[in-house]
Amino acid sequence: MGSLWESLHPESLLEPITFDRSDLENTANCPFAAKAIRDGKVQNISRLMDIGSEGHLLIKEGIEWGNGDYMVAADYILAEVTKARPDIQPEVIKALRFISNELKRIVNFNYGNLIGVEKQFSAELLPASQSRGAVIITARLDLVNAGRDKTVLHVHDWKTGYKQRSNSEAYASFQTCCIAWILFKELADVQEIHFWYDQTMTDTRAYCKLERDRDYYNFQGRLETAVMLRLQDSSEAWPDIEKCSWCPATAICPHVVADARDFNTDKVPFLQQMIALQARLTAMKKIANAYVKKHGNIIFADHVYGDKGRQKVSYSAFKIGKSDDDEKDE
Ligand code: SF4
Repeated sequence: MGSLWESLHPESLLEPITFDRSDLENTANCPFAAKAIRDGKVQNISRLMDIGSEGHLLIKEGIEWGNGDYMVAADYILAEVTKARPDIQPEVIKALRFISNELKRIVNFNYGNLIGVEKQFSAELLPASQSRGAVIITARLDLVNAGRDKTVLHVHDWKTGYKQRSNSEAYASFQTCCIAWILFKELADVQEIHFWYDQTMTDTRAYCKLERDRDYYNFQGRLETAVMLRLQDSSEAWPDIEKCSWCPATAICPHVVADARDFNTDKVPFLQQMIALQARLTAMKKIANAYVKKHGNIIFADHVYGDKGRQKVSYSAFKIGKSDDDEKDE
């Protein structure tokens, strides 16, 4: 029989609901795609994801092997990486060589400050209600180490893709928001987090700084909205040319941007058409530029094509709603 407190608070008996960062991130990006992946209607797989999974597996093995000694773990990773899946072994070596060196560098620089590698962190976002258990958000962090004191943390996330993020993209990323919120929630002393995306294929980094005062409630709001969509099992679609171009659900999505669907269905004819269009555009520009050189700007409706008086020629000048005078030189 349950306690009196439990009978007064039936929600305390409901199982907590845990959402992983990547599922929430898919939902925050486009609920339709996230649901299609969850329901098994499409598979979210790619060569780069395989490289990432293989790499994480080896890092996990290395950490277990090192048993608290991260130098030993780094050496293990380097020694064992040659046994990675043969079809992706060269890329896995490139990524893990970077990570092994980075691990050694951080350990040498901050010995004793390392909080965890490949460590899972979780925090409660919503308390239990009458109809569901508490909502827990969870994320695995590649590397966390303490900063100059207990108010500062450094987080490193290793990326095996070719995308090169800007610092502002790093700050705006859902992953940054989710991980930083969990850390702020769980570690009450932490006031600032220095977040690094280490891009292993290009040996580059994107960086952003998160501050509790400025970011905590904004991040919480963003997570709550994603969780609400997830709890509703939403299949809303938010098409966007960039998102749709790499979405795994293009074949079944009625909302897909048409060009992105054509690209994903068969990339070769798409690229052939793009090359042909580019060649035609070059020829068209030559013709129009020759005319402008002799007769001056061409003005039609709100568009201006051509140069600006005696100033430098600006042939890419399709400026909607601007006159020739306020057009910016390029
Ligand atoms: S194709 Fe575009 S709109 Fe459709 S699920 Fe994917 S991202 Fe969303």
